[in-house]
Amino acid sequence: MTANLLDFDLDGLAAFCERLGEKRFRAVQLFRWIHQKGVSRFEDMTDLARSLRDKLPGVCEVRGLSVLTEQASADGTIKWLFDVGDGNAVEAVFIPEDDRGTLCVSSQAGCAVGCRFCSTGHQGFSRNLTTGEIVAQLWYAEHHLRRRLGTTERVISNVVMMGMGEPLQNYAALVPALKVMLDDHGYGLSRRRLTVSTSGVVPMMDRLAQDCPVALAVSLHAPNDALRDHLVPLNRKYPLAELLDACQRYLPHAPRDFITFEYCMLDGVNDQPEHAQQLIELVRGHGGRGVPCKLNLIPFNPFPGSGLTCSPRPVVKAFAERLNAAGIVTTVRKTRGDDIDAACGQLAGDVLDRTKAAERLAKRRVQTEQPVVWQRKEPSA
Ligand code: SAH
Ligand code: SF4
Repeated sequence: MTANLLDFDLDGLAAFCERLGEKRFRAVQLFRWIHQKGVSRFEDMTDLARSLRDKLPGVCEVRGLSVLTEQASADGTIKWLFDVGDGNAVEAVFIPEDDRGTLCVSSQAGCAVGCRFCSTGHQGFSRNLTTGEIVAQLWYAEHHLRRRLGTTERVISNVVMMGMGEPLQNYAALVPALKVMLDDHGYGLSRRRLTVSTSGVVPMMDRLAQDCPVALAVSLHAPNDALRDHLVPLNRKYPLAELLDACQRYLPHAPRDFITFEYCMLDGVNDQPEHAQQLIELVRGHGGRGVPCKLNLIPFNPFPGSGLTCSPRPVVKAFAERLNAAGIVTTVRKTRGDDIDAACGQLAGDVLDRTKAAERLAKRRVQTEQPVVWQRKEPSA
């Protein structure tokens, strides 16, 4: 198979072009055509030297992912299911808001961490995505939405690595993908508008701080090791004390001066007053220095076979109030796209249902199940 140019960050593309005897500025031109203009055919890249345009088709291509389905929620959220081969599929979700457009991107087909409350975790691990497959989700969504809205301006202002998979367990492919997203010649996202969410792969948090310090969200879900061992099995390897140490080490490198902790609200499991109290002590007291943080409570999104239910609304409210009263800024995440199973933790890529996936593969056509009902608003700078 020829090289996929979506696999390269700008330095990688420059090295590739150099091997073809081309200067770096040619790589910059090529990179801009691909990521800023969404062009994949070399003959359409009009200001590229004819010699290079002729050389490229034999050695490389811009290979996106094929879309199996597109679903639009009544609230404007759009979910795409992408084919990544061998009966595997991954999902990306676009969430429009008044002041921003956020794309939630997948990093793996399945996930090996196996959190109790996560649909992706229940399906098991299939494989890591390549850099090109991670970038292709943004490349497709951005240019597809621009075409649909009839604009040449940027539609996606924020990216969160909160789709399927544990991004820090696919580190080698993740970092170049983040660099493409940040690059001014690529998508030009700011570091604070690019968030990596992790269940707590401690050594890779340290590496990310050095290699590509973007905003960090840490999936906490429990205030003590016994409960977290059960909910997030990775805690047995990297327990809370080590995880919070890693957060403290990350902060000096982070584009924001706080870490976002995510906490999925599970009825009767982690939502009691004593859990709120333990949580306060944990983030306040850690090593006597505390961890500057914001807490994001995520109402549990149910899926078949989880055996769990979401905490009742008043319990979530009371939990948030306890934390806010202790001075820990706590918000409750609004659930988006739940009518199309696009909410947190509902992304399963339908790989469990291989028959259905195979049928879709055979059809290989894009289905729009509901009309898109949202209006574009200018993302703020
Ligand atoms: N693997 C990474 C990123 C993907 S999950 C991580 O775990 O952080 C993105 C967020 O959705 C995480 O905070 C995760 O804990 C949360 N989540 C997973 N399943 C959920 C569910 N069923 N309901 C609500 N949130 C869920
Ligand atoms: Fe993997 Fe994140 Fe789901 Fe846990 S919550 S199983 S780490 S995707």
